[in-house]
Amino acid sequence: MTNSLKLKFLCQNIECDYKEEAPLKDYTTFKIGGPADYLIEPYDEGQISKVVEFCQKSGIHYQFLGNGSNVLAPDGGVRGAVIRLGPNFSYIRRLPDGDLLCGAGATLSQLAAFAQKNGLAGLEFAWGIPGSAGGALYMNAGAYGGKMKDVVVSADVVDEAGRLQTIPAGEMELGYRSSVFQHRAWCVTRLRLRLAPGSPEEIRAKMEELMERRREKQPLEYPSAGSIFQRPQGNYAGALIEQCGLKGRAVGGAQVSEKHAGFIVNTGGATCRDVLELISQIQREVEEKTGYHLVCEVKQL
Ligand SMILES: Cc1cc2nc3c(=O)[nH]c(=O)nc-3n(C[C@H](O)[C@H](O)[C@H](O)COP(=O)(O)OP(=O)(O)OC[C@H]3O[C@@H](n4cnc5c(N)ncnc54)[C@H](O)[C@@H]3O)c2cc1C
Repeated sequence: MTNSLKLKFLCQNIECDYKEEAPLKDYTTFKIGGPADYLIEPYDEGQISKVVEFCQKSGIHYQFLGNGSNVLAPDGGVRGAVIRLGPNFSYIRRLPDGDLLCGAGATLSQLAAFAQKNGLAGLEFAWGIPGSAGGALYMNAGAYGGKMKDVVVSADVVDEAGRLQTIPAGEMELGYRSSVFQHRAWCVTRLRLRLAPGSPEEIRAKMEELMERRREKQPLEYPSAGSIFQRPQGNYAGALIEQCGLKGRAVGGAQVSEKHAGFIVNTGGATCRDVLELISQIQREVEEKTGYHLVCEVKQL
């Protein structure tokens, strides 16, 4: 029996939402990527455990996807299973001790809005980052001085054996755009966050101010995956790229944004191959001219 048929039987058996040959371009903010053999959208941790256990036992490749805002998916798509934590995991609750509990599929904007309404400060930075809470923890996403590390207390994961574990923040190895989750095949399913009391009006004003800065600086009118490179020590990727005269450089439908050279945008019909070629041209030319090696921040599926 083929892996696809096996996955189909599994999903039907455990009554899990799934799509066959799901075009990844529809699930990524870059709007790039061929079909995933199986895109599975579980309802709960139990279903994730079953899919993981099954894939492990059957030697089927599997990976996780959140809101697809920091990934580049291959033109030929991906084989095996993509397990996507979306709306089924988007709950947000306030616990009696004041902490927030959220599903890993809740978006950062939903979280920031919930915190603001409840007079909780600390997530203003997250307003406007188009990721899920799970993807944000995996990346230790941050902006304007804030980051996930500052607010997370613990996270529940389904590990590679399909078991549920709670990981305290101290064991997450959260660094600049890095975390322990990047080295483990764990699915983050929910997060506990601790915020500080604040005035809803002041929190809202801060969120609006940061959103305005985004609108001014970022090419939000085009599909992208945000900053394509990590910030090199002591400098900015966008500034180095601009300094090397690469603003506007294009390969196929992929272009170094005219508005913010740290972004590669999809101006229409860009392929993964176009983006990878543009990334390698930028890395080569920036290194030759400035000595900085730019590290790609976006993850390849
Ligand atoms: C316009 C724009 C602006 C952006 N601005 C910022 C910014 O200011 N700061 C910033 O840090 N980032 C920014 N980003 C990048 C991106 O939004 C963040 O990295 C975000 O946190 C990624 O979350 P996601 O759910 O989209 O993850 P995805 O892109 O779906 O996945 C990213 C990685 O996380 C893994 N992953 C996702 N969910 C899980 C899970 N539940 N369990 C285990 N692994 C998982 C995936 O396998 C993948 O390797 C921006 C992107 C765009 C398009």
